[in-house]
This record gives sequence, structure tokens and C-alpha cells, in this order.
Amino acid sequence: MARIGLKDIIVSYGKNGSRTVALDNVNLDVSDGQFVSLIGPSGCGKSTLLDLVAGLRKPTNGYVEVDGFEINGPGPDRGVVFQDYSLFPWMSALENLRFAIEHSQEKTTKEQCLAKAGRYLELVGLSKFSDKYPGTLSGGMRQRLAIARMFAMNPEMFLMDEPFGALDSLNRAFMQDLLTHLWSRDKERKTVLFVTHDVDEAILLSDKVVVMTPTPGRIKEVVDVPFPRPRRRQNLFTSQDYIILRSKLLSRFSEEMQEDLAKQENELITWSI
Ligand code: ADP
Repeated sequence: MARIGLKDIIVSYGKNGSRTVALDNVNLDVSDGQFVSLIGPSGCGKSTLLDLVAGLRKPTNGYVEVDGFEINGPGPDRGVVFQDYSLFPWMSALENLRFAIEHSQEKTTKEQCLAKAGRYLELVGLSKFSDKYPGTLSGGMRQRLAIARMFAMNPEMFLMDEPFGALDSLNRAFMQDLLTHLWSRDKERKTVLFVTHDVDEAILLSDKVVVMTPTPGRIKEVVDVPFPRPRRRQNLFTSQDYIILRSKLLSRFSEEMQEDLAKQENELITWSI
């Protein structure tokens, strides 16, 4: 049985004249322990799809299953990381982690929560910044803290919406390596749904890449990423198999962009007549 199942999903926003169909007849199964990326042009419904699995939105039609049961809202089994970190600005780095652990793990004492928070800060290299507030940390550090919080809360699944989208390329590469390092060290790997519009990031991190079409978002293709782990970016990015897979994904992507552009041009022509 799939860990996450999206069944006949339709999501539309607005009413009648201003109605947008964000997702149209989406079916997707994600197996336990898989790292699956969603890629597609801006506005194709990636965030909407992730929000459905997080239980933050309800589909207009269809339903989402986790372990075979329909979900009805958010749950502690699904940890979410967004691009904007969503940390508590009035709590220090350590407090942010301690609070998250205290509220996700009932049987843990205050001392255990604090010790665990300290260990996770260390894991992401932020021990020296434990008493700093998020507003005084760099974007990269804040995202490290958000990732540490997600791992510390230990949910069954990670749902990540362009978590590294706001970072410069060096910080982004660092975070990708940190995420795969933390994810791979778990004997029972978490199931991950990861939104990105970066093809290289999707291949580097994922077991499968789901390519979506522009609005209304549909699944165009699900592509397996067969490269063994651990993946070293220098070796991967120069291998022939990588170059072939990358150009396959980029061509799917650009087909979609071109169709979208042609559609927009047609709409413009219709408007100007
Ligand atoms: P992506 O994450 O791929 O950029 P989104 O899921 O954010 O795409 O959006 C998909 C489509 O739904 C877009 O056309 C967007 O404008 C529309 N949309 C998203 N959220 C809302 C909303 N709350 N109200 C109206 N339209 C929305």
C-alpha cells in the first residue's frame, strides 16, 4: 500500500467567471521511504498539491490517503517546511527546537526536550547560535534551523515546499547535502514530497521526479532517478547517464513551457481582437 495516495484530485479556486482549475484529475502514489520531487512551471499547482497532503487545503473533488486512510486535516505524522522558514521570531534557536519537540513528543520530559534540541542544533552546525533569535540569523541559518526542527519533531513524512528557493547557490548546495545526509542516516527513511523548480536539485535528491503541466496542473510523467546513493554532486553532474536524464527532464519541462506560452499568446490575441 502507498504511504501517500492522491485519488482523482481536482482543485479549483474562485467562482464561475474567475474560476481557476489548479489541479485537474491528479492521481499519484508515493511509496514508504521514497524521496519524490514535484517539478513544473510556476503556477502549475505544486504548492496546492503539497498543501492537500499537509491537510491545509481540501480538494474540490477526490481525496488524499495516508496509509490507506483519508485525511481530514493536518497531523503530527506530516512535517512541513516552507521557503519562509515559519520559525517563531520571539523564541531563540534553541527555544524554537525545544518547543517543537515538547509539542510533538508527549512522553518527553523538559530536560530531555532541551537535550534533544541541543543535539539537533549541533547536527546542523548551529550550536554557537543557540540563544540567537531567527531575525538575527542569515537565511541559510534559518533554513538549517527549520530543517533541524523538522527532523527533531520526527514526523512520518516530510513535506517541503521549495525550502531552498530563497538561498544563494552555495547555501543551497550546502542545504541539499545536509538534507540528504540527515535523511539517509535514518535506518527507516522518511517519505519525502519535495517541491522545486530546479531540475538539478530534483535529480540530486530524488528517487522519482513528477513532472507537472502548466495550469490546469496535471501529471505529465513520473520519471525514476536510478542513481545509487550516496550521490556525490561532482561525480553525478559529470556522468553521461545524468546528462541524458537531465536533458530528458528539461525537454519535458520546456515542452510544457512552450505550450503554456502559446496558450497565453492565444489568450492575448483573443483579448486584443
Ligand atoms: P505552484 O506552486 O506550482 O507555483 P500554486 O499551487 O501556488 O502553483 O497555484 C496553482 C494555481 O492556483 C495558480 O494559477 C494560482 O494562481 C492559483 N491559486 C493558488 N492559490 C490560490 C488561492 N488561494 N486563490 C485563488 N487562486 C489560487
